[in-house]
Amino acid sequence: MKQAPILALAVVLSATTLLAASPDIIVRTDVLFGNAANVRVQKVGPGTEVRFTPDPHGGPECLWFCFRVCRPHSRGGALGKLRLVLECPETMLGGGNPANFRPVFRPAGGDWDRTDAPELIELPDGRKQAAWTLDAAKPSLDFAFAFPYGRAELERMVKETGGYWRVDTIGVSQGGRPLLRLSNDYGKPKGDQPGLYLMSRQHSAEVSGGWVLDGVLRRFAELGDAAPLVWAVPLSNIDGVEQGDYGKDNFPYDVNRAWGNPPMRHETLVFQQDMRRWAKRCRPVAGCDFHAPGASEAEGIYAFIHKSEKYLDVAKQAKEWSDAAGEALGPEFAAKKFTRSGDYNSRWNTPRFGGFCQEEMKMPGIAFETPYAMIQKTVMTREKYQEAGRRIADALAARAKCATNKQPSQP
Ligand SMILES: [Zn+2]
Repeated sequence: MKQAPILALAVVLSATTLLAASPDIIVRTDVLFGNAANVRVQKVGPGTEVRFTPDPHGGPECLWFCFRVCRPHSRGGALGKLRLVLECPETMLGGGNPANFRPVFRPAGGDWDRTDAPELIELPDGRKQAAWTLDAAKPSLDFAFAFPYGRAELERMVKETGGYWRVDTIGVSQGGRPLLRLSNDYGKPKGDQPGLYLMSRQHSAEVSGGWVLDGVLRRFAELGDAAPLVWAVPLSNIDGVEQGDYGKDNFPYDVNRAWGNPPMRHETLVFQQDMRRWAKRCRPVAGCDFHAPGASEAEGIYAFIHKSEKYLDVAKQAKEWSDAAGEALGPEFAAKKFTRSGDYNSRWNTPRFGGFCQEEMKMPGIAFETPYAMIQKTVMTREKYQEAGRRIADALAARAKCATNKQPSQP
């Protein structure tokens, strides 16, 4: 296919503000969760074409993108026909099959919605591209890899669950942002209520994991007093979330590769302290961490459990907890091979949350992986993510009730 010549119109205004412009349409990445690189805007026929690649923001792989296409301040009117061309999808983690991508868009003043399947382009040298054409009736349109989830979405869940969740600040991120922890009960010293510790967004762009945890927390609020004691950190890599980083494998340590003793990131230090505080106030029964897999995976939700050589009984329990969650999810959401051990070729073999759960807390540590866009042929909506979370919550609550873990050895 012959490529139209690209006009070099990108103007870099500052390190954080990149505006690529055609005469009357600009692209902004200085928005919340903003991320795009090598942005070019050009007029094509009656419409506008925006070309971009996700920005690795210093990581070895890229994945997340989010940007605003708009008219310069003084001008209003519809953007009209927009063709958004994602270049180099194979450089995204697991981006080999962009046919499974369904980015989201939001017109000014509106809500997010999914795009349809992309137009797939193969260039003469074998590179791929994926394109979506939208008719934009407003003067601005946001475009992102998947439904964003940040502080506003968390606040909304807290508000809609009517005061069930208490929100406390347990420390700050490397960038100085508050780290928020939710709890439904503080427990008490030497308390013996079964307790769960939940996390998401250690890899900051893994928004589908964040939406599943949102559903878990909504379900526990519905269960009320029948729920176990739960402490949860939904926005664990808050810097990466708000800066639009993918946040996986970033040099020198991503949050989920820094769980050693001593911890190698400030966030991990804060979480370890909080988990030790929690473990003294309840009977820890499990830790769960909500992630997302490679960009184009669409098999279904699955779970990684930590392979513990030292504590075989804990590893066995982890498999039972994970299998129970897989069963509760059912074939609608769960991948055929649900429980897996994380023995893929990782860049870092430094300690993770699951290892900390099993080796220090002596309780199962489970990492759920939820695809960004599709499960088999089903396009995932926010409501479907939340429904998956509800099912996981029911499985966790049932197992917590009959868990017989002894109090862990206090660190
Ligand atoms: Zn992850």
